[in-house]
Amino acid sequence: MAKPIVAIVGRPNVGKSTIFNRIVGDRVAIVEDTPGVTRDRIYGAGEWLNHHFNIIDTGGIELGDEPLLVQMREQAHIAIDEADVILFIVDGKDGLTSADEEVASLLYRSKKPVVLGVNKIDDFKQEMNLYDFYSLGMGEPIAISGAHGRGLGDLLDEVIAHFPKTEDDDYDETTIKFSIIGRPNVGKSSLVNAILGKDRVIVSDIAGTTRDAVDTPFTREGQDYVIIDTAGIRKRGKVYEKTEKYSVLRAQKAIEGSDVVLVVINGEEGIIEQDKKIAGYAHQAGRAIIIVVNKWDIVKKDNKTMENFKRKIRDNFQFLDYAPIVFLSAATKQRLHHLLPMIQTVSENHSLRVQTSLLNDVIMDATAMTPPPSDKGKRLKIYYATQIGVKPPTFVLFVNDPELLHFSYERYLENKIRDTFGFVGTPIKIFTRKKH
Ligand code: GDP
Ligand code: GDP
Repeated sequence: MAKPIVAIVGRPNVGKSTIFNRIVGDRVAIVEDTPGVTRDRIYGAGEWLNHHFNIIDTGGIELGDEPLLVQMREQAHIAIDEADVILFIVDGKDGLTSADEEVASLLYRSKKPVVLGVNKIDDFKQEMNLYDFYSLGMGEPIAISGAHGRGLGDLLDEVIAHFPKTEDDDYDETTIKFSIIGRPNVGKSSLVNAILGKDRVIVSDIAGTTRDAVDTPFTREGQDYVIIDTAGIRKRGKVYEKTEKYSVLRAQKAIEGSDVVLVVINGEEGIIEQDKKIAGYAHQAGRAIIIVVNKWDIVKKDNKTMENFKRKIRDNFQFLDYAPIVFLSAATKQRLHHLLPMIQTVSENHSLRVQTSLLNDVIMDATAMTPPPSDKGKRLKIYYATQIGVKPPTFVLFVNDPELLHFSYERYLENKIRDTFGFVGTPIKIFTRKKH
């Protein structure tokens, strides 16, 4: 089920990122662990009174050299496009400015619910400053202090009160939900068309939909699929849609609703940093992944080209060593027929449960063959292994001392598990518990 999205808007320096960080806390920090994935503090998960949501700091989406007013306008449009609830932040110390009014007029026309937070009200004496902001026509301004955390509870109460009541975008258990991500121009939209063929024409920007994440269901050979966030893939034209941060944000949103993620790379241009960043998010989210090298029709090829490209991908995406690579052309449909069967395979692996006894045989054989190295005279003992979850497959090892499982040995065990059970296309997670 897709989580509601909250977007923070407001002019620079009102305290948007301070508030974002307070709400998200350290939850974005996990992204850090993957080499090659840098922190992007514009999209994070929040929680209030058991309501889970995602939050976007639109102030973090900079738009090059555009004048400030244009940037603010575009950021407001992003909020309007992406969010279920908009959190409009103003500065209670500075008082009302014409830039605030400008933003307000855009938000007002959008008809999305807006919650107005007056920041930097660090103590009660400053609450007088609130009254000016009634004139923005956004209802009751809520006094907050991002710096001290004051008033954030009241603010979030108001935010969650505006969340959509029911989510109707849930699909059947057997439906494979996949998304197509990648930087602009790699061919995502063409790939959607190629997959759907002529039997579906989809209209982008369907008017009147409150959530703009319009997904596209289809059935092929008895299997139901849904392409997540097709509307997002097809968006283009606005200034911010060409920015890197925006494409990362869209990718994160699409990944969230998917079981399988197609990471599309432009075969003609090769791999750039942004591709890695986008792929890193899919990996972090624990989704099944296929790397799609598109535009293969226009790549000059000899009999080594594909192997060389594969090697380049493996070098650049070391954390995605489990992801199969498909070379294809969305334009000519060359090799396209490999794609859906591959999506089916990785999806099955993503929710595969293995037999506990077999798993333990694999672990015991592995430790017998290469015993865990000892650390300061202590050696890791693995007593028992069990699979505790799927999507992605998640294992727990009961051990004498969890500290003794080092990265390289964990990798070794992961490879042994993969050798036996396959798990092509899906990350797997291994945790340890101390056995008492
Ligand atoms: P953004 O540009 O809107 O993201 O604003 P920042 O979060 O970067 O904050 C701008 C400045 O305002 C920083 O110097 C913050 O420390 C300061 N600031 C943020 N929240 C508060 C607050 O509640 N009270 C006070 N006094 N300063 C704050
Ligand atoms: P998106 O921004 O990732 O959705 O990319 P588009 O699907 O809009 O494609 C960007 C450009 O690449 C368009 O001009 C497409 O016609 C072209 N393109 C997409 N896929 C292919 C392909 O497989 N081969 C070739 N030669 N061009 C392609």
